[in-house]
Amino acid sequence: MSTITTSSVPESLQSFLSSPKKLFIDGDWVAARSGKCFDVFDPSTDQVIGQAAEGDAADVELAVAAARKAFDSGPWSSMTASQRSRLIWKVGDLIEQNADELAQLETLDNGKPLAVAKAADVALAADMFRYMAGWATKIEGSTIPVNVPYVPGGEFHAFTLKEPVGVVGQIIPWNFPLLMAAWKLGPALATGCTIVLKPAEQTPLSAVRLGELIQEAGVPDGVVNIITGFGETAGAAIAAHDQIDKVAFTGSTEVGKLIVKAAAGNLKKVTLELGGKSPNVVYDDADLDTAIAGAADAIFFNQGQVCSAGSRLFVQQGIYDEVVAGVSEIANNLKVGSGFDSETQMGPLVSREQLERVRGYLKAGLADGAEATAGGAALDQPGYFVQPTVLKNASKSMSIVREEIFGPVVAAMPFANDAELVSQANDSSYGLAAGIWTRDISKAHRLAKSVKAGTVWINCYSIFDAALPFGGYKQSGWGREMGHAALENYLQTKSVCISL
Ligand code: ADP
Ligand code: MG
Repeated sequence: MSTITTSSVPESLQSFLSSPKKLFIDGDWVAARSGKCFDVFDPSTDQVIGQAAEGDAADVELAVAAARKAFDSGPWSSMTASQRSRLIWKVGDLIEQNADELAQLETLDNGKPLAVAKAADVALAADMFRYMAGWATKIEGSTIPVNVPYVPGGEFHAFTLKEPVGVVGQIIPWNFPLLMAAWKLGPALATGCTIVLKPAEQTPLSAVRLGELIQEAGVPDGVVNIITGFGETAGAAIAAHDQIDKVAFTGSTEVGKLIVKAAAGNLKKVTLELGGKSPNVVYDDADLDTAIAGAADAIFFNQGQVCSAGSRLFVQQGIYDEVVAGVSEIANNLKVGSGFDSETQMGPLVSREQLERVRGYLKAGLADGAEATAGGAALDQPGYFVQPTVLKNASKSMSIVREEIFGPVVAAMPFANDAELVSQANDSSYGLAAGIWTRDISKAHRLAKSVKAGTVWINCYSIFDAALPFGGYKQSGWGREMGHAALENYLQTKSVCISL
């Protein structure tokens, strides 16, 4: 076990961090059955700042049993939607009341700037619970007139019931740890499901704190179970478990495919929110100052560790040099440092593994003939820092254009006209998001229709709201997060037909 240094840890977090982190199963905080823990790192220093319990298949087994009991016979199943709604709302309130602590935990664990953690991650997480609390009381089926041609003169009353899918496994990533938990838990709770949640091994801390808040809110035992641990063990056990009715996953497309295979055993329902390589398109009639700032933000926000990051920048020919120079200038001036430094605009990547992955893409891109007009390398200092990078002379045969880098690296390419642009923009196995910068509203609408993406932002980027569905076309996923669309992931439709 590594030694724990606490130099980078804010004093207010030290008592939380020094107490042993446990698994949350059936309303109790328990050690992993194996007794094992794993190290938690501060990405800005590469130092160990705590430990989390290493849950595996044995702990998943207990968590599933607790979730099964809570769903099949516990108080959750007999609670009214209105009672459920109040508990979910309370979780939102508690997140808000503990916003500073949660934001600090997020910065410590993930590396992101503290102001971003508070304004985006924590605020959106609270809002997600409240938005979904509202839905709990508004889930309804419909009455359906039927004809039944083979029963002449028959009279029927038919309607649908919307019922919770049951016990759900939720596996989430490390880029927005608390917010991804909120996106997953909110709709599952609103629909009356029970949950086994597995946060990413890189960032387990805020989920543990959220578990405490869920308990404080009065959510009954076993409704939410939280298993910290690794993907190959705890995650795989969730995906394969035959008493889990549905699995919801956010992460890499590669692991998404493994989840689908593992889910085949009991044909559990699956929703996936996966990778992206989103096109961000700047036309020569755009407000260039806004578009350039927006293009930089689209890729450098959250250190580029955003599935919908605008990582392929398409710029109309006549303004290509100007836009590339503008985005590069912003990149060169971004303050990169610890998320706790109030000057910092971009923090470290989340882990050494991620740093190596991004570094590998930078090397490959430069070797393939792309040219860095900003950045191009990791920073030579402790922590997982990489320079915000703009690569020009990129072409579609290069891995930096085809593959998701999940780092602050944008590949810039020129385009001549709409027809050329649409085929370039859609030339990807992904289809998560797209950005369009233009003053021509008709062109914007036309392109919004032609681009194969689950979200299209026009003259803005990375705008998320609890009410707005988010998810992918093509290999970016199945199903939608947020909005009332997300409820569908957690509901079954039952048709009831009565002969009158
Ligand atoms: P990354 O490689 O960027 O960390 P992953 O897709 O591997 O992204 O991780 C996202 C989430 O999926 C994490 O919670 C991780 O633990 C989990 N995970 C990884 N591998 C598996 C797997 N084989 N089965 C289930 N979950 C997994
Ligand atoms: Mg992985």
